Amino acid sequence: MSKILHRSIHADLPVAVGGRGIELFDAHGKTYIDASGGAAVSCLGHNHPHVLAALHAQLDKLAYAHTGFFTTEIAERLADSLIADSPDGIDYVYLVSGGSEAMEAALKMARQYFVEKGESQRRHIIARRQSYHGNTLGALAAGGNEWRRAQFRPLLIETHHIAPCYAYRGRLAGEGEYQYGERVANELEAKILELGSDEVIAFVAETVVGATAGAVPAVDGYFKRIREICDSYGVLLILDEVMCGMGRTGTLHAYEQEAIVPDLIAIAKGLGGGYQPVGAVLLGRRIYDAFATGSGFFQHGHTYMAHPMAAAAALAVQDVVREHGLLDNVVRMGELLNHRLQERFHNHHSVGDIRGRGLFRGIEIVADRGDKSPFDPARKVNVAIKREAMARGLMVYPMGGTIDGVQGDHILLAPPFIVSAGQIDTIVERLGDAVDAAVARSVA
Ligand code: PMP
Repeated sequence: MSKILHRSIHADLPVAVGGRGIELFDAHGKTYIDASGGAAVSCLGHNHPHVLAALHAQLDKLAYAHTGFFTTEIAERLADSLIADSPDGIDYVYLVSGGSEAMEAALKMARQYFVEKGESQRRHIIARRQSYHGNTLGALAAGGNEWRRAQFRPLLIETHHIAPCYAYRGRLAGEGEYQYGERVANELEAKILELGSDEVIAFVAETVVGATAGAVPAVDGYFKRIREICDSYGVLLILDEVMCGMGRTGTLHAYEQEAIVPDLIAIAKGLGGGYQPVGAVLLGRRIYDAFATGSGFFQHGHTYMAHPMAAAAALAVQDVVREHGLLDNVVRMGELLNHRLQERFHNHHSVGDIRGRGLFRGIEIVADRGDKSPFDPARKVNVAIKREAMARGLMVYPMGGTIDGVQGDHILLAPPFIVSAGQIDTIVERLGDAVDAAVARSVA
């Protein structure tokens, strides 16, 4: 019996002993195709030689130096390369150890920005009901996943939630996509006015929703309207790209496809590809200058921030992504994956929606695709699909959450950027069998 307190105490987890390319191996010699990159983390797959060499080299030089005493060459190089690779509007980087830390830092940065500017009355955070921003208390408060929040509610800071942009379930009959996007974006304006137009700090959203609903992009025009509303009321726009960022959707940042520039961006997972725990907040000059001309520091910090080993991993991963032109493969293989999913599932009685961008794709499982009614949550169909997939040597990421009273079962696919066409075929074939087997058991 494992002595580690895992997320699920009774989970009987296989022991991972190795990995190569897009595969992981367990202690019994069984091979699994990592079609979810863990949780959209392993963008380069496993044991990539360039990343391993970079880690060994950094370890030989310097494993750790506290940021209160030193900066390091490797962390500076990472910051420079992230800024150089990002579109205009990103001028500074705050390096942390993961996604929740990045979101906590972004929320506090946004609050301190207004304190520095003499607008300390601003105190409200608005987010969306379909969202996950991390499990630490601030990030959990911003998130909208009721199941994750419920028992901790007395400990959470007050946040406010508006509708998600979730066309599959939210769009009214006869409503155009654009109208729908505008209608749900306008909920932000109504909420800002309700709370007091000069009392709101920030609006927080995942550019493409990940861990609550499996790769849900917003409809065209939604984020443009959101940006307009934020600008009208001086509200900061924080985009959580912990899951959907760093190339996962085919552009380095997912927001590039929305033709907007956010004020703060949280990134993690694909930044270091799982080789080290690492995350970051990306910010523009405007925020930085408020700190620089104000108190002169950001009142935050962690012992392991800008860790040299984490920086070495992230720099090496991003070098490979850039130098091997892997974003082109994300776009090409993403299209193929979408095509294969459509072929396999577009008439499937239990698949209601197929969606996503790049190598970030989701399917929504329903009991009846006609009226979109979900399975009884007690059946945990998403978990059953994961189990059936693992039995067939395939890792897919299961999600089940309640959004606006509708329980959903979702499966996320986020294979490494190096995936090949043949591997995509195998992934969809095994997933199809796993869905059929899990659904057959659920209705039996
Ligand atoms: N934001 C999003 C969108 C995420 O998907 C996650 C992790 N699933 C987090 C934040 C939290 O990141 P971490 O688990 O690294 O703390």
